[in-house]
Amino acid sequence: MQQHLTIFDPFDEMRFGHHICFSCGTTITQDQQTPVFPAWLMEKYGFGQELLRMLDQSIIAYQDLKIPCCHQCQTQVLDPLEEKVRQALSQGVTGLRGLEEKVLFQWLGKMFYGTLVTELIKEQNPLVRPEYAVSEQPKMLLKFQSFFRVLQSIRVPIEFSDFLPCSLFIIDVDASAEPLRFEFRDELSTMMFSVRIDNALVVCCLLDNGMIKQSLRRVWDIIEPRQLQPIQAAEFSARVFYAAYLLNVVPDYLLRPVKPQDDHLVMDTLIDDVTNVIFNPWQHTSYAKLLATVWAKWGITQEDILRDPAEPLSMLFSPEGEFIEFPKIPGEQAGN
Ligand SMILES: [Zn+2]
Repeated sequence: MQQHLTIFDPFDEMRFGHHICFSCGTTITQDQQTPVFPAWLMEKYGFGQELLRMLDQSIIAYQDLKIPCCHQCQTQVLDPLEEKVRQALSQGVTGLRGLEEKVLFQWLGKMFYGTLVTELIKEQNPLVRPEYAVSEQPKMLLKFQSFFRVLQSIRVPIEFSDFLPCSLFIIDVDASAEPLRFEFRDELSTMMFSVRIDNALVVCCLLDNGMIKQSLRRVWDIIEPRQLQPIQAAEFSARVFYAAYLLNVVPDYLLRPVKPQDDHLVMDTLIDDVTNVIFNPWQHTSYAKLLATVWAKWGITQEDILRDPAEPLSMLFSPEGEFIEFPKIPGEQAGN
């Protein structure tokens, strides 16, 4: 097979370490690293020194979160990718929406994978025994392995036959009350990643072949053209995170055989939806619990959300299903 069409699979023999390029698997020296969060983004939004809590409860500054990356992958793969996103982002929500979805998937995917790899490298150290060791959960590892296959499109030219591996939502948020800000959230087990940059909130399930977007289609069609208040954006994001939690299938990805003249790979996907239910049933109580965590800064509790147990509180839609243009936050006086 042509060298540049060779896929790297670190999960095959659990090859994670400071001397293995995360992207291509080349052996490198320990000083060859790349920041998980792009340097230009940290600089622009000044969050490099802010702290992040890892799975093992250790605390690290964003700028210190780095993964092994060879010089070739840095200059040929990551730099051009960052440049595309940086330019798109300078045009805000419109710019991001104009970007090829696959590129945005790769950009988010690299950050997600970066935090994951950091956990995996740590777990190679026998002295570190996190309570929930990722590498000891076979189901999760299979998921990450599938994800890494599609993320290899970052380096190897891969055409996805008729799918996008993820569900991607770009939400326009009214940022007038909180301008110039960066916020990020990820959840390894559900493959969820969200990042808020100024008035653009990007919420993504990185490994669902668009099934969540499909299931939220009716709601998304109403939301996409509108600008949301931060409390509404938080609610929508909670719906996506909850849907990811209910998702019950993991897509499989298969490469077509390569012919000598091929200049790229073609990948097909399979979802076992015959024996599996795609989404577990929605439960208002667990959804309300999740929503309460993102609404905590508005002082809204799980109890408030479930005042009507059959109809959880929404800032997006009235009980009649109408979009709420000016949500009234409970406990806040009108006119405030
Ligand atoms: Zn490399």
